[in-house]
Amino acid sequence: MEEQMVRTACATLRADDVGQGVRLNGWVHRRRDLGGVVFIDLRDRTGLVQVVFYPESGELHALASGLRPETVVEVFGEVMARGGQNANERMPTGAIEVKASRVSVLAECDDLPLQPAGSQVPQEETRLRWRFLDLRREDMRRALETRSEVVRTIRETLHSEGFWDIETPMLTASTPEGARDYLVPSRVHPGHFYALPQSPQLFKQLLMVGGAERYYQVARCFRDEDLRADRQPEFTQIDIEMSFVEPRDVMMVTEKVICRAAAIVGWELSAPFPQMTWIEAMDRYGVDRPDLRFGLEIGDITPAAAASEFVVFRQASQEGGVIRGFCVPGAAESHSRKKLDGLTARARELGAGGLIWFKQSGGKISGPAVKALGPEKALELTGALGAGDGDLTLIVAASLEIARRVLGALRLEMAAAEKMIPADRHELTWVTDFPLFEWDEDEKRYFACHHPFTSPEDTDLDRLESDPAGVHARAYDIILDGTEIGGGSIRIHRPDVQRRVFAALGIGEEEAQSRFGFLLDALRFGAPPHGGIALGLDRLVALLLSRDSIRDVIAFPKTTSASCPLTSAPGSIDAAQLMELGLRLRDDA
Ligand code: ASP
Repeated sequence: MEEQMVRTACATLRADDVGQGVRLNGWVHRRRDLGGVVFIDLRDRTGLVQVVFYPESGELHALASGLRPETVVEVFGEVMARGGQNANERMPTGAIEVKASRVSVLAECDDLPLQPAGSQVPQEETRLRWRFLDLRREDMRRALETRSEVVRTIRETLHSEGFWDIETPMLTASTPEGARDYLVPSRVHPGHFYALPQSPQLFKQLLMVGGAERYYQVARCFRDEDLRADRQPEFTQIDIEMSFVEPRDVMMVTEKVICRAAAIVGWELSAPFPQMTWIEAMDRYGVDRPDLRFGLEIGDITPAAAASEFVVFRQASQEGGVIRGFCVPGAAESHSRKKLDGLTARARELGAGGLIWFKQSGGKISGPAVKALGPEKALELTGALGAGDGDLTLIVAASLEIARRVLGALRLEMAAAEKMIPADRHELTWVTDFPLFEWDEDEKRYFACHHPFTSPEDTDLDRLESDPAGVHARAYDIILDGTEIGGGSIRIHRPDVQRRVFAALGIGEEEAQSRFGFLLDALRFGAPPHGGIALGLDRLVALLLSRDSIRDVIAFPKTTSASCPLTSAPGSIDAAQLMELGLRLRDDA
């Protein structure tokens, strides 16, 4: 009869269930022998419940005494109240325990290379090598569950907004997003290769030409980049495209998606999210993905500073540079000479010639430039940056690009060091009006800031050839707490404009035709105006869970050097496979 009992999930049992007979299945999380009584914390994905075995039960007790951690068992028993002192308020099931009447081992467990029940997070290499054990740890279990909930909510939201879920090919032609392609050799067409998609960009545009109007996909993307800290060679994005839209339409859908996803972890966000232009972000925060959870806004004091006796300021301005800085409230006292030398070294490392600092306390101002400026002028300049008594002011005199970079980085580092980032505050913003192109000094040519299918502003169309650097894009990024979690744009839907943008990027007529002929064709046959966005799912979930790395929210991630310690991918292939693919390895490969 017991065999027919329906399984109960461990962590669902409560005081109301006392007296019930139950069947539990799960893993031995921990075993304790207390004066002859054996306690087992039994774990399934819902959590833990305590199971007790009394010595009177003879064989049953003997079996329980030998159960090793992570053994898979089936337990039959009765739910009992854990009276008074024995109750554990920290456990959801702490008011009860299950008195076992039978237990059977469903699977044994070897000596563990990683303890799922351990309180310490194991080394990452060990975690990735033994990922199936790592996934049993509570923080990974939570990550998988939350991620699944986020995806479900996003799907539901998009379906309720009339979006269709449409798959696009994995074996395809190159879609440029600024990275190298992962290539797949074709056996049937020796010497020919598919590319894995860097994004479904071209297909989603073709879907709009195909009349789908509202598309989304939980899409895997592949980018072969020189691996920077927290990138993965394959990642997942929520890919969205809509026809007959303006940026605001795409933003509204995105805001709904993000608000609902964030509610899963209890964040209450409210839409519409604020917007700022790219120039504003770069000037006030030094970066195109500003963290708005704290102040430390950068200010420009070029004219006032240039009109001083301080040669560093005069020279920077004469050379076409800027003088900018920010004030750190209350930080004068805590910044010793040594700390300030450290900040100066950091500014140099980031490309500045130096860092000019001022400390204000007791109505006095100090700092290496006070002598040259005179205290009055020094106070005028720091005052213009909002500084008063007790504050520290940091100033950089450099080219616009360097000043933005250095101050943008120092602003973040100071906020972290001064513990100015509230843990429970979250700030979103749209960044708009990006430049369409970016000049690459090494290659002496323009690159697309986003991708080559992004539409220029209509009003900038006649500048495409004469002043490419001055053309704005109809693009928008969405930033959460200083991290870009998505980006998109209105696309080019006219073949003549697409050709001109290709030309500005140095993609000639012939190359355009051979690489993107199918897109240019599509644009000739009634392409509706369209636009969209892609949200980085891994990054979004990592932020929602306050995890430092996206690897912590991906079931089977790769290492920072793009390998998988679990499966040993990438691996070599044998001579016969190479032959079949018409490939030969170089001797030095
Ligand atoms: N295809 C772009 C990307 O993957 C997003 C977009 O423009 O929709 O970053």
